[in-house]
Amino acid sequence: MRPEPPPAALRLAIDGDALAANWRALDALSGAAAAGAAVKADAYGLGVARTVPALWQAGCRDFYVAHWAEVAPVAARVPPGAVGVLHGPLTPVEAAYAKAVGVRPVINSLHQAQVWHNAGGGVCDLMVDTGINRLGLPLEDIGHALIQQLEIDVLLSHLASADEDSPLNAVQLSRWQDARRAVAHRRASLANSAGITLGNTYHGDLTRPGIALYGGVPCAALEGLIRQVLRPEAAVMQVRTLKSGDSVGYNATFVADRTMRVGVVSLGYEDGYLRCWSGKGAMLAGGRRLSALGRVSMDMTVIDLSAAPDVTEGDWVAVDYDLPRASAISGLSQYELLTLMGRRFAR
Ligand SMILES: *Cc1c(COP(=O)(O)O)cnc(C)c1O
Repeated sequence: MRPEPPPAALRLAIDGDALAANWRALDALSGAAAAGAAVKADAYGLGVARTVPALWQAGCRDFYVAHWAEVAPVAARVPPGAVGVLHGPLTPVEAAYAKAVGVRPVINSLHQAQVWHNAGGGVCDLMVDTGINRLGLPLEDIGHALIQQLEIDVLLSHLASADEDSPLNAVQLSRWQDARRAVAHRRASLANSAGITLGNTYHGDLTRPGIALYGGVPCAALEGLIRQVLRPEAAVMQVRTLKSGDSVGYNATFVADRTMRVGVVSLGYEDGYLRCWSGKGAMLAGGRRLSALGRVSMDMTVIDLSAAPDVTEGDWVAVDYDLPRASAISGLSQYELLTLMGRRFAR
C-alpha cells in the first residue's frame, strides 16, 4: 500500500463564524427578503465543502452555482430544490441532469426555455436581462408562449452597477418590476451583495450575495459590516541570510542594503499569488508584517524576516489578504483575489 501523501504546504484558513456572521448581516440588510448565496466557482474559491454547510446552518436556503459541473458537491450538502444553476440548460443532456438531480435550471433564453420544455419542464427560475446585456432573456421575449408556460420559482435579474451610484440601477429596477408584472412567478430576486445596500425596493423576495459572504466589501455601505473570512497560509521552507548587495529572485529586482534574514515561502503565482504582488505583498506572523522581496516565482516567494527573528523553517505565515486592502495594493479585483486561489491549497 502506498503511504498517504504528506499534508499540503499551503492551506486556506476559513473562518466559519465570520462566514455565518456575514450571511446573517446580509440577510438582515435584505429586510423582508431572504438572503441566498452565490456559491459558483467552488464558493469563490473557498470550497463548497466548508462553506455550504456553514451557510445552511446560518439559515441560508437558496444556493446558486454557474456551471452544471458545480452542481454535485452543492446538491450533496443541501436538500433537493435548494440549488439553482445560473448558466441554464443549453443542451438536452443538461436539462435531463437537472431533472434527475432535482435542481432548478435558470432559463436565460427562448432556446433554453425550449430545451427545458422538451425535457418535460418543471420548476425552474427565469433570468431576465434588464440592462447588463449578459446572460438573460431579453425583456421583449417575456410574452412568448415558451416563457409564459414556464413554472417559475424565482424571477431573477442582475444589476450591472450595483457597486456604484449609477442611474442604471433605477433603470434596471424599473424593468425588473415590469418583468414581475409580465410573467407569473413565486419569488423575485434582483440584488447581489452591493445591490442589497440599495434599499428595500431592490430586495424582492430573495437576495443573492456572493462576494460579501466571503469577506469582500464591494461598496462603502458594507464597510464595517463584513468580516474577513479567508486567510491563505504557507510554510516557510528555508531561511537564509543576505549580505548587503545580495539580490533576491528572478531578474534581481530586490537588492539588500544591509545584512538581512529572509524566508522562502511555498507560495507562488501558480497558487494565485500573482506577480503583481512582487515588491508589494506581505505575510503576517504574530501580528508582524513581513514584506515580500523581489519577484514572486511560480512556487515560492521570499519575505523579509528582519522583524521576526523567531520565525524559522517549518513555521507557517499568513498572507496579508484583507480583500479591500489587498485589492487596492495589487490592482486585482476582490473577486479575482478569491477565485485565483490555486489547486495546491488544502481547503
Ligand atoms: C455571481 C452572481 C451573484 C453574486 O454577486 P456578488 O457581486 O458576488 O454578490 C448574484 N447573482 C448572479 C446572477 C451572479 O452571477
